[in-house]
Amino acid sequence: MEEFDYDLFVIGAGSGGVRACRIAASLGARVAVAEERYFGGTCVNVGCVPKKLFSYAAHYLDDLEDSRGFGWDVPEKSFNWSTLLKNKNKEINRLNGIYKAILDNNQVQVFQARARIKDAHTVEVANKLVTAKYILIATGGWPWIPQYEGSEHVITSNDVFFMENLPKRLLVVGGGYIAVEFASIFTRLGSNTVLSYRGDQLLRGFDDEIRHFTTVEIGKRMDLKLSSNIIKISKNDNGLRVYFDSGDEIVVDCVLSATGRKPLTANLGLENVNIALADNGAVVVNEHFQTGEPSIYAVGDVIDRVSLTPVALAEGQIVARALFSSDPRAMDYQNIPTAVFSHPNLATCGLSEQVALNQGFNVDIFVATVKQLKHTLSGRDELSMIKLVVDQDTDRVIGLHMVGPDAGELVQGFAVAMNAGATKADFDRTIGIHPTLAEEFVTMRTKRKQHQE
Ligand code: FAD
Ligand code: NDP
Repeated sequence: MEEFDYDLFVIGAGSGGVRACRIAASLGARVAVAEERYFGGTCVNVGCVPKKLFSYAAHYLDDLEDSRGFGWDVPEKSFNWSTLLKNKNKEINRLNGIYKAILDNNQVQVFQARARIKDAHTVEVANKLVTAKYILIATGGWPWIPQYEGSEHVITSNDVFFMENLPKRLLVVGGGYIAVEFASIFTRLGSNTVLSYRGDQLLRGFDDEIRHFTTVEIGKRMDLKLSSNIIKISKNDNGLRVYFDSGDEIVVDCVLSATGRKPLTANLGLENVNIALADNGAVVVNEHFQTGEPSIYAVGDVIDRVSLTPVALAEGQIVARALFSSDPRAMDYQNIPTAVFSHPNLATCGLSEQVALNQGFNVDIFVATVKQLKHTLSGRDELSMIKLVVDQDTDRVIGLHMVGPDAGELVQGFAVAMNAGATKADFDRTIGIHPTLAEEFVTMRTKRKQHQE
């Protein structure tokens, strides 16, 4: 008789959890998973996937407007929010089914219920106690809203995917990924959008020059309120009146707070085991994703290292392989490419100029600001930026940044080159594809004279 009911019990069937289940089961482990809300987790249900579908919807406005300069006669445009919502929901339901099928097809026992840790090897789920040799916490994160008078009137990214009506007047609060993505999306879908951020440049953590450029480009399309904080919201018949610390007031139909996410550990039973939480609520793990309780591991947003789906997938896979095939591979957090699906897109891989300098690199900087060929006829006032940060000592490209159409699609390929150790000389001897924006990456020859302050 086996000592435990399962070899691995996973809490949360999101990106990290499902990947860990699938790999562990494929290596012969007896696996169970608990999911209390939706299969596929945040990314599939209220994150990457529906967000990207909305972003596609928003891009059609640009395409329609741009086409006029190319001779197209575009009749009166109208957008139907309920059609987008209905089609999006249908696709997400299909994906939920696929994620459930991945689990079933791999003989993973699925509990459609909340799970709570009772001790180092026991989980309470669906009114019973089950035991496992290992437990994996993959519970993700949850939107966080600062508290002020009237903050109960705001919605979060969880709600934005299910709004009954497209707000005519929208305020988006925050300057991170979610804020700039949704402000970009809704301004094009037809909402009169204001983006308010407490700092003076959007997207803290990205390269400063890229942030400045992106802030200017985004500001061409919507009203930006920078260095501004909400102090109060009041509700009346005309909508929500928002009061800022500057003394400004605006009235909108909806306020979307995109002010960050917190690891989801509430009521998980962590007090029953030896697991520490960091100040921001993240589960503390070592380089093998092991918590202070040797049989319990954690991956994904709940450990708050790099909160991206491909990172959660990689972490889940590493844990499953380490536990069930003694594969000691460690997670490499360098050169993780990432894209912000704002309009225009921004994508990056490696170090910003500031981080490179802080880490002691001597750097050469190559920057190009480009007007896309398309916009000579479209008439659109939009510029793109390409930037390389090169280590003078080794000639390696240690930072690559782009603001422009499909930046995520382009930077993914360059990330492979960077992981393979590509030097600026490798970029320079690569023939460009003409006429494209991406050819700028291999044609920049002039170093920027001075570093940015
Ligand atoms: P999750 O996917 O959140 O899964 C956790 C699961 O655990 C959930 O299904 C939850 O219901 C379940 N759960 C929690 N507690 C319990 C419990 N006690 N018992 C049972 N089940 C439980 N990343 C990208 O890479 N690209 C993007 O474009 C992108 N866009 C995003 C857009 C938005 C609006 C948001 C919010 C996030 C986006 N992300 C994006 C981030 C990405 O979604 C997350 O990094 C990723 O989903 C994290 O995966 P995870 O497995 O850690 O957690
Ligand atoms: P972010 O951490 O990216 O941004 C949060 C924003 O809220 C920041 O601008 C922050 O300001 C601001 N903020 C924080 N606290 C307050 C406060 N008290 N008052 C006012 N503003 C405040 O979080 P998001 O919620 O946008 O996204 C969460 C994570 O999900 C991202 O970090 C990313 O990892 C992932 N994600 C990835 C996407 C992608 O890959 N395309 C898309 C969406 C999400 P400040 O900068 O000054 O701290």
